[in-house]
Amino acid sequence: MEHACSHRVDHDLSNRPADKRAGFARWLASKDCTDCWKAARDADSASKEKWLAEKRAEELEAAATWAKQFDMPQLEGPAKALDWGERSRHQLMMAAHTALVVEGSWDAADWAELEEKARSISGVGRGRVTGVSTSPFPSAARPNRTCESPRIRLSTSPASADAGLRS
Ligand SMILES: [Zn+2]
Repeated sequence: MEHACSHRVDHDLSNRPADKRAGFARWLASKDCTDCWKAARDADSASKEKWLAEKRAEELEAAATWAKQFDMPQLEGPAKALDWGERSRHQLMMAAHTALVVEGSWDAADWAELEEKARSISGVGRGRVTGVSTSPFPSAARPNRTCESPRIRLSTSPASADAGLRS
């Protein structure tokens, strides 16, 4: 039988009901052979992994540049959590800046205060956070504000990375 990929493969269709054989053979012929199908699948997942690795590297580079520019401390913690911590800190602070200053009502002084709190965090992982609060962000909207401040908190555990940002 010749497959769509033009490879010839012998198939034993004797276990198929006679009246279904022709239809099954046509269906099989319209597909790539098993080897080609597997090769395509592997290439697909390999390129996804590569894409993800490149994206992570870019994010990490952006986070490192940002941390240097804003004088953020070198994070400490388990090696495998550090990259995650660097990226998360950067992304959270960027999101917070957009929500509170760019789109919100915070002024430069409010932001400077929050940035200072963020600087006091240097640990990654549970129980490694220094400072009084585990979050550098206010847990609720401040009074006397005309518009609502989004609630944003910094997660300190990789396990809750996706749940770290709430608005
Ligand atoms: Zn093939």
